[in-house]
Amino acid sequence: MNELHTRGLALLRAGREHEAATCLREAISLGPDDARARYHLAIAHRLRGELTEARNELLAALELEPTLAPACAQLGGLALVAGELQEAMSWLSRALAIHPGHRISRYQLGVALRFAGHRTEAISLLQASLEPGPGALPPVLAHRVRGQLVDALNDPLPGARPLAQCAAPLVTELLEEREPPREEAPHPESSREREMRVMTPLEAARLLAGARSILALTGSGISVGSGLATRKELWQRWDRDAAVSVFKFREAPNVLWEVIADFLGEGRHRPDAAHLALAACPDLIGIVTQNVDGLHQEAHREVHGESVPMPPVIELHGTLLETRCQACDARPGRTAGSYVETAAPRPPRCERCDGPLRPDVVLFGERVAPERMGQALDLVRRCDALLVVGTAMDVAPASELPRIARANGVPVVELKRTASRLSRSLDTVLVPGESDTVLPELLENLRQMR
Ligand SMILES: [Zn+2]
Repeated sequence: MNELHTRGLALLRAGREHEAATCLREAISLGPDDARARYHLAIAHRLRGELTEARNELLAALELEPTLAPACAQLGGLALVAGELQEAMSWLSRALAIHPGHRISRYQLGVALRFAGHRTEAISLLQASLEPGPGALPPVLAHRVRGQLVDALNDPLPGARPLAQCAAPLVTELLEEREPPREEAPHPESSREREMRVMTPLEAARLLAGARSILALTGSGISVGSGLATRKELWQRWDRDAAVSVFKFREAPNVLWEVIADFLGEGRHRPDAAHLALAACPDLIGIVTQNVDGLHQEAHREVHGESVPMPPVIELHGTLLETRCQACDARPGRTAGSYVETAAPRPPRCERCDGPLRPDVVLFGERVAPERMGQALDLVRRCDALLVVGTAMDVAPASELPRIARANGVPVVELKRTASRLSRSLDTVLVPGESDTVLPELLENLRQMR
């Protein structure tokens, strides 16, 4: 490995993909035969969401080193995300032929087989991917595999799934050079290359005083003040894989409606102080949210009225304000809440075909529409400050967005009760506290600095 390659890899590990890519491109121009430098450049592209570039570098790496199993595995993952099941299976089988113990290939091939309708083979591969020993999956990934496994074991339906419902695992794996595999999220004290800074709302406002294109990324924590359950609370009461996966919905559609009733609870939900402060935020270019409650839009109407256009709100996981038929896709034009309030049968039925109605949200096993993800990526690339509010950022693909912002050198300020995986793995700023207290305080300070 030449010196530039070593430095590029270190930058990649430090979450600085943009600089890593520049450095690795230089390494390749000096040593065009370095397959591993191309592999690492592919990972940098992949982490920045540049999937075509990633694919091209992986193909170039394999030209140079045809037995580079992780490159085959990455190509398999990219094909899986694109819904190309046959291509995915062929790359992943090739990876396993080269390196039969490769856990990530076992996992991804298990997913591909499952969606291709080969359930028994899928289950045995998913189980094999969880084997302990050298090369074992990191805990976060193992958790995802177990979710897939539960779905596969509970899934009585034979036959292939429609591709649109392919749950796409996109796994990043760095090739390790003479180093033992590391834990996914090193503790901050044990890592010199990453640091988390804790700030007061006033200090964070000073940091953002020059920002003119602010983007907010929000999760369930921002709606706590509105009386909605957080994801964490919900998953303490419900088995998330069983309750809100598309597979479970096909089997027992009433369960999802029970979860929605539990989530919404009693009465009408109004925007809280955090939604309202954000709606009044100067230089806000948009909101990317994992929430499905529509409260950002309502806050905008409350603050500005109907006539002021709202900056874009990208609802990555869809919305409870719309419903559709699982069978025929008809849209009755009613909110999920309206069915819950009127004690409609669970599930409510489609007037056209009697199929089960569902909220227009993304269930586990489904994926975020690439178009919505593309809009979110555009906003992340345009912003010069990113506020991450009330989310642990542990669900892909939303978890990729702060990483991309950091790679562009954009300050990322996280407002959350406690540090998340995000603040431990990227050099973000943490403003600890309840979002309906600290966000209004931060934005009020920011407004006074203008
Ligand atoms: Zn229908």
